[in-house]
Amino acid sequence: MAVWDAIVLGAGGVGSATAMHLSKSGARTLAVDQYPPAHANGSSHGQTRIIRQAYFEHPCYVPLLQRAYDLWHQLEASTSQKLFHRTGLVELGPRDGIVIPGVLQSAKEYSLPIEELSPSTIHERWPGLRGDEKWGGVIEQNAGFLRVEQCVQAHLDTAKRHGCQFLHDCTVLDWTSDQNEVKVVTDRGVETAARLVIAAGPWTRSLFPILSPHLRILRKHLYWFKPEKESFREQNGFPCFFHETPQGFFYGFPCFNGTGVKVARHSGGQLIESPDSSSTKRKPQDDQDRQLVIEYANQYLPGLGSNMTSTAKCYYTSTPDEHFVIDRAPGHPNVTVVAGMSGHGFKFASALGELASQMALNTEIPFDLTPFTIRRFAS
Ligand SMILES: Cc1cc2nc3c(=O)[nH]c(=O)nc-3n(C[C@H](O)[C@H](O)[C@H](O)COP(=O)(O)OP(=O)(O)OC[C@H]3O[C@@H](n4cnc5c(N)ncnc54)[C@H](O)[C@@H]3O)c2cc1C
Repeated sequence: MAVWDAIVLGAGGVGSATAMHLSKSGARTLAVDQYPPAHANGSSHGQTRIIRQAYFEHPCYVPLLQRAYDLWHQLEASTSQKLFHRTGLVELGPRDGIVIPGVLQSAKEYSLPIEELSPSTIHERWPGLRGDEKWGGVIEQNAGFLRVEQCVQAHLDTAKRHGCQFLHDCTVLDWTSDQNEVKVVTDRGVETAARLVIAAGPWTRSLFPILSPHLRILRKHLYWFKPEKESFREQNGFPCFFHETPQGFFYGFPCFNGTGVKVARHSGGQLIESPDSSSTKRKPQDDQDRQLVIEYANQYLPGLGSNMTSTAKCYYTSTPDEHFVIDRAPGHPNVTVVAGMSGHGFKFASALGELASQMALNTEIPFDLTPFTIRRFAS
């Protein structure tokens, strides 16, 4: 008989939440991660992640986001800490582009409160934000940012409180499954379980090879600026921001707790094989990306200045359609995979953990997951 009811492979953004939901459901759960808790080697670090509901990517995400909001609030309440900063999010871009029409569509379908504002009104309200006068603009007040490492740690701590066991600094080398159980081979031995959830982020390609041709791993860069003006601070009402520009999508966060203004480019990225490959380690910094971010800041964030104080790198794991994979492994009904977050998955992590746990435990799934199946890649 298997030792564990469930093993979670990966205890990052999604895996930490999955471990919490499984152990809360009473499942004897083991979570394995190759790095220490809330580490900075994968996709869930760098202080902050934007969270929003009027989802320009597709309205089908909105119900999942509403559940994610509830679960983040529950996590805050149960751990007595502030994880979600409701700063609001200003989005600016062409009226016939991707962002503004997408936001308006999701807001309309789900009656979400957003306010449409012209770029000049936005600039009057927040002099540090600017957009082309021909563009549209919206503010979603119910949006903001999550403290990413604190969220992961809060999920891990709560999982532990509910009896989850952890193997950190332990690498999974392989897994197999038959009708009865799953065997997970690690560099410390073999673990057996009734179910396996794979939440391996940018390492998914090697652990789940059938997805490999459909996942692109992109190294992305984050930049912090020390602003020239006090108005960029969260306590002075500065919001998160997202621009669709002719040079691509860019976004950023207000200063909080003495940090700078974090700015990054959502588009682009350096294509890599894997975060660990020697070619990734040899790859130089992305000078073009840095230059584009500086030019973006000069053009659209007046008063930010050019004092860049630090940088970090992180990985997107992108599918061809940039929609997630949330599915059971073909031919392995006791293996669930959550992958391909395509650079927009963290805000969902709380709900994805619950979903992965429901899939693993074969309980009812209250969402339509058709857009997230593996079989969509077959065509
Ligand atoms: C720069 C950047 C900005 C982003 N901005 C946003 C945003 O504003 N809003 C948003 O919603 N999302 C955003 N995202 C996306 C979001 O952060 C990711 O989608 C999400 O964090 C991915 O979580 P994950 O659990 O899939 O991956 P990870 O958190 O990387 O977790 C995978 C875990 O698996 C472990 N693992 C892998 N292989 C093995 C193995 N063989 N053995 C043991 N352990 C293993 C890893 O060590 C890791 O801990 C951003 C991402 C980046 C990189």
